[in-house]
Amino acid sequence: MAFINDNFLKLQKNYLFADIAHRVEAYKTAHPDAPIIRLGIGDVTRPLVPAVIDALHKAVDEMAHAETFRGYGPEQGYEFLRSAIVANVFEPRGIALSADEVFVNDGAKSDTGNFGDILGRDNTICVTDPIYPVYIDSNVMAGRAGDFNNGLWSKITYCACSEENDFIPELPTKPVDMIYLCYPNNPTGTVLTRAQLKKWVDYALQTGALILYDAAYATFIRNEDVPHSIYEIEGAKECAVEFHSYSKTAGFTGLRCGFTIVPKEVTARGADGTRVHLNPLWNRRQCTKFNGTPYIVQRAAAAIYTEEGKRQVKEVVDFYLENARIMRETLMATGLKVYGGTDAPYIWFKTPEGMKSWDCWEMLLNDYALVSTPGVGFGPSGEGYIRLTAFGTREDCVEAMRRLKK
Ligand code: PLP
Repeated sequence: MAFINDNFLKLQKNYLFADIAHRVEAYKTAHPDAPIIRLGIGDVTRPLVPAVIDALHKAVDEMAHAETFRGYGPEQGYEFLRSAIVANVFEPRGIALSADEVFVNDGAKSDTGNFGDILGRDNTICVTDPIYPVYIDSNVMAGRAGDFNNGLWSKITYCACSEENDFIPELPTKPVDMIYLCYPNNPTGTVLTRAQLKKWVDYALQTGALILYDAAYATFIRNEDVPHSIYEIEGAKECAVEFHSYSKTAGFTGLRCGFTIVPKEVTARGADGTRVHLNPLWNRRQCTKFNGTPYIVQRAAAAIYTEEGKRQVKEVVDFYLENARIMRETLMATGLKVYGGTDAPYIWFKTPEGMKSWDCWEMLLNDYALVSTPGVGFGPSGEGYIRLTAFGTREDCVEAMRRLKK
């Protein structure tokens, strides 16, 4: 008889968005004609840009001819995309990387979850709170989280982010081995300046901790003081891996592509205390468990780095940032305390009159037919907040604000 991985039974019953979908379905059944606006789940609404579509068509045509057909590709990604990433994402920021430090993936969710495969089970985890739930759930599955009591996992260190500390997390007060940072942040839409991020890099260098830096929303940054990559901070190549995604920046939520940076310098401790390089270990893991992102998708991703691709994608990101501005300013004008939305596609606001997140969520649905996300779904420090995404259509965004203003 086969045994299961018992850790899976420890996972919380309802995944946040499944729970929301369930409640929205119930509302729809009770109010079939309600004009529902969805600003909850972070899926995009703009189509792929023309440069990407052209690249897809061309790549599909290549697949039709024996001379240009591609079968299995390199597990790490095609050289044309890895080099384009180095040249267009990192070199302009003064970050020197080589193509073999770039691992193309099928989206940041997979790699943020999978990276733990090459890290020991006894590592202690640190997350900022509230946070993208994948970091926690993937560590629950791996057996690193301990037990769930009163909304917290016993072996996870939570660094609370709330209006009290202006959403700038304090360094952990007890030793931790793996630190998840996500900036610009999902769900709060807040960012760290270079000086604030440097504290974490210095801490990791001093203590030997590994930072798992999720830069899925880096393209939304407009403030010059905010780093687009952790490698803008000196020493980060020795202590951090970084995850990127094309999902929100270029509408790839359905195409599936992103990349992970594992610098040659980054190490973690082996059982005998020696430093082991993570780049070859991750390469080995990928070669065994991953057979590469589809060729046509990688061609589509490379098109983002052509002159017209860059321009078109920037227009899409600017469009979402304009949605964010409209929402942020409208909500602030109503007297709500609003965070995020300037360097990120998320608006995070404090519920009125100390309402609980889910109560406010229900009110937004029942009184305004507006689907949001309850802050508490991202962790205990999210209690009393609501997240809205800027990925809706302009019409929905404006209409949602019109209803809320009333
Ligand atoms: N990381 C963060 C912080 C996210 O918010 C998301 C998606 O919402 C992802 C990663 C997943 O991105 P992808 O679609 O590339 O898997």
